[in-house]
Amino acid sequence: MTPTVALSAETQSFLNQPMRNLIDGDFTAGRGEGLAVVDPATENTIAEFPAAGADDVADAVAAARTAFDDGRWRSLPPARKEKVLHELGELMERDLQQLSELDTLDNGMPLAFAQYAVGFAIDTLRYYAGWPTKIEGTLNPVPGEYFSYSSREPVGVCAGITPWNAPVSVAINKVVPALACGNTVVLKPAEQTPLSAVRLAELCVEAGIPPGVVNVVHGDGPTVGSALVSHPDVDKISFTGSTATGRLIQVKAAETMKRVTLELGGKSPNIVCADADLDAATGGSLMAAFANSGQVCYAGTRLFVERSIHDEFVQRLVAASGAMTVGGGFDPASQLGPLVSAEQLDRVRSYIKIGVDEGAELVAGGERIGETGYFVAPTIFANVSNSMRIAREEIFGPVVSVIPFDDEEEALRLANDSEYGLGAGVWTRDVSRAHRLAAGIRSGIVWVNTYGDLMPSFPFGGYKQSGYGREFGSASIDTYTETKSVLLRL
Ligand code: ADP
Repeated sequence: MTPTVALSAETQSFLNQPMRNLIDGDFTAGRGEGLAVVDPATENTIAEFPAAGADDVADAVAAARTAFDDGRWRSLPPARKEKVLHELGELMERDLQQLSELDTLDNGMPLAFAQYAVGFAIDTLRYYAGWPTKIEGTLNPVPGEYFSYSSREPVGVCAGITPWNAPVSVAINKVVPALACGNTVVLKPAEQTPLSAVRLAELCVEAGIPPGVVNVVHGDGPTVGSALVSHPDVDKISFTGSTATGRLIQVKAAETMKRVTLELGGKSPNIVCADADLDAATGGSLMAAFANSGQVCYAGTRLFVERSIHDEFVQRLVAASGAMTVGGGFDPASQLGPLVSAEQLDRVRSYIKIGVDEGAELVAGGERIGETGYFVAPTIFANVSNSMRIAREEIFGPVVSVIPFDDEEEALRLANDSEYGLGAGVWTRDVSRAHRLAAGIRSGIVWVNTYGDLMPSFPFGGYKQSGYGREFGSASIDTYTETKSVLLRL
């Protein structure tokens, strides 16, 4: 499973440079522990460099604080901010291939998927690039002897802590809405997938974002991430990652009362009704569970199928999943890449064993593929009970649990019987049923007759232990601003 598409010359020469942090406009070598970045398709080390140390985090936060306080970014005219952000979008578009190659190298995702995700990041950037001229306040209705208005102000220094499953797009979700509102940023990408963030940092400088406004520090969570979370000069944390880490961050952030936005894990229900377009539902449900090898927080991993079509639908899933091509991300035929790391491979394999031990029926996949690279076959368990661990715990791999249901009421009860509430899918031709199910499901987003599509214009985030706060749309603007009310006695 070796790359079958050669890396572009730009990516090759980028990889020959040392990987550095961006602090106050300068690219500096980290002063922390060594960090090795592994290609999950080949297990080769792609890059090795020193991570940020505590001094680097302190310097990055100090730079962001000064840049916020002196107004070099927030006091720029709104149209000027928009121009700079659009310039960053142009540069990302110019370098779309390179950014995609870096994410495929780091994460293993098929190159076409990486290109789609970087394209989505650029769309998101452009959506938020238009906001600085449109963030309005209100004139408040007060008695005639008073005058009152409320304005939106930036929160301050915002730390973005991101996961490894969609490196460019999650980084852009953190950095660009924060900038659109006038904040400054310290970004800490996941230690498994730092490369595209190094390149994004270079593009921020090239776009003319002033020094100190965007800083990037590399390193692991317990050292670099937690140093950001406990730093008193960080005003807000925006985190995407596991529920366990989100819980730690929330507790730690409470000490300094930071604003926190958490986009966490899920065990999302995907409900296929007997009246659905079964061809569309088959393909859509497979991609809901297996896109990015299941390493998606809103993956539709609990697949509820109406009992009358359960056996037929399982047969369709097994046939279609058997036709999926698993391979390295640079193989153009590959639909499913490897898992991101050896640790993730062990985790997924242990859950497959748990499923078998719990008595679920393994009808497809279940094995590692090959001996090099962290590949796992798309895995389907049928006749799963919603109380089994494979239906309750987030696996973050290509494993789906098919669970039969008898009627709408049961589908809703089972779908909502989860500590998570991030995504959900409904497949039906009955519009009324679609609306009833969408209204009854306790999750931040419900897709009907599709799954997983995100757009910059609508809010996304979790109910229950999937987190809180919303990203995308005007919701993100709300979370990156404080509201100030002014009252005058006339
Ligand atoms: P995973 O366990 O799948 O790697 P995490 O949720 O732990 O996912 O990681 C997501 C991001 O959170 C990464 O950037 C990681 O370095 C960071 N992180 C992990 N632990 C902590 C922590 N204690 N404090 C702050 N950030 C952390």
